[in-house]
Amino acid sequence: MKHTDFLIVGGGVIGLCLALEAKLRYPDQRVTVLEKEPYCGAHASGRNSGVLHAGFYYAADSLKARFTRDGNRAWRDYCQEHRLKVNACGKLVVAQDENDWAGLDELLRRAQINGIEMQVISADEARAIEPRVKTCQRALFSPSTAVVDPKRVMRSLTEQVERQGVDLHLGTAYLSRLAQDGSSSTVLTTTGERIVCGYLINAAGLQADRVAHDFGFAKNLVILPFKGLYLYSSEPVGALRLHVYPVPNLNNPFLGVHYTVTVDGHVKVGPTAIPAFWREHYQGWQGFNLGESIDILWREAGLWWRNEFDFRRLAWQELNKYRKGHMVALAERLVSHVDRSHYHRWGVPGVRAQLLNVSTRKLEMDFRYEGDRQSFHVLNAVSPGFTCAIPFSRFLFDQIDTFKQQG
Ligand SMILES: Cc1cc2nc3c(=O)[nH]c(=O)nc-3n(C[C@H](O)[C@H](O)[C@H](O)COP(=O)(O)OP(=O)(O)OC[C@H]3O[C@@H](n4cnc5c(N)ncnc54)[C@H](O)[C@@H]3O)c2cc1C
Repeated sequence: MKHTDFLIVGGGVIGLCLALEAKLRYPDQRVTVLEKEPYCGAHASGRNSGVLHAGFYYAADSLKARFTRDGNRAWRDYCQEHRLKVNACGKLVVAQDENDWAGLDELLRRAQINGIEMQVISADEARAIEPRVKTCQRALFSPSTAVVDPKRVMRSLTEQVERQGVDLHLGTAYLSRLAQDGSSSTVLTTTGERIVCGYLINAAGLQADRVAHDFGFAKNLVILPFKGLYLYSSEPVGALRLHVYPVPNLNNPFLGVHYTVTVDGHVKVGPTAIPAFWREHYQGWQGFNLGESIDILWREAGLWWRNEFDFRRLAWQELNKYRKGHMVALAERLVSHVDRSHYHRWGVPGVRAQLLNVSTRKLEMDFRYEGDRQSFHVLNAVSPGFTCAIPFSRFLFDQIDTFKQQG
């Protein structure tokens, strides 16, 4: 039986940032991370686009708005300190027609409230920044949007966690919680040894709702997984100078099909937000789980039937994006000189740990957390969770300290 003061379930970006924060605050206490995969960042944290968002999409009272701007700065500093590449290319948000102007105004308003630098520019000014861009009369330019390689960042973070003396258990999954052992500690079963921990922190991403349910939290919340895929262009580096995004539908948590420039200057278009049939539904039957699949399909069928949050249209639109021709047609609305023959390689898929509230039957829009004096649960850590991770983890630890003191 292993004993630890803090046990963190999940070695994604949130779990590792929380582990560093724990060691910073409690240098003499034992901090353990359980990661079920053989390396950290095998799920969303290593499968995302690595865009360091600026923070203008989110409503001012949200946790997303609160941490994106500072998170963007924190990763730039981190990357400089650890000699990791950042492509500080910036982003254009374009209007496909005059119906998008109100959306641009709303994004500008949110940028101003959230203290984010944002410029309103004319179509000519937009073309001076990126000659291929298409926009109806005006656009928004976000100079602080940047991009990193999330895999390299995760490798660096893993090394740092190990250097700080965190006990990293790779290839070891949390299985269940056993009854309290009579003290304030919690006993857990894992695929390795049993663990007694003083405090459990759940940062399990796609599995976070399950872990939370074991502890009596997130009762109305379940994962509704959405798969994100990008289509790579074979054009040479520099084919686009910066990210180009449409005005999103701010009522759902996805940003619409956009162009992303990678840290090395390559171009990709996407992502999809296709309903997945199980949590780790990346490719083929990999990670298939019958019970889980029945559960998710049942839920999706219910959403389809009742057409909640316009699910039928969303699902249909997204499934269409599996067709490369359709994806490229959407891309052609954003930039000119798109040659379909350049688009044939899909990237590595990622699945969003999106939560559905079964009481309100709505998608959760913001990050969430719940906890008490024995455990803490990070929930709905969807995009821009990677950007936010450093300041968000600091904030989460303030909440953990408050919960612990309640004891
Ligand atoms: C397609 C896509 C694109 C995105 N693009 C961006 C972007 O450009 N910018 C941005 O800021 N954000 C982006 N995001 C969001 C971002 O990736 C996530 O917010 C972030 O990675 C969440 O980190 P996490 O640590 O909570 O989850 P994860 O990275 O999923 O980590 C959770 C970890 O827990 C482990 N785990 C689960 N269950 C157990 C168990 N029982 N025992 C032990 N370990 C367990 C998993 O193996 C996993 O490693 C994107 C996400 C997706 C899916």
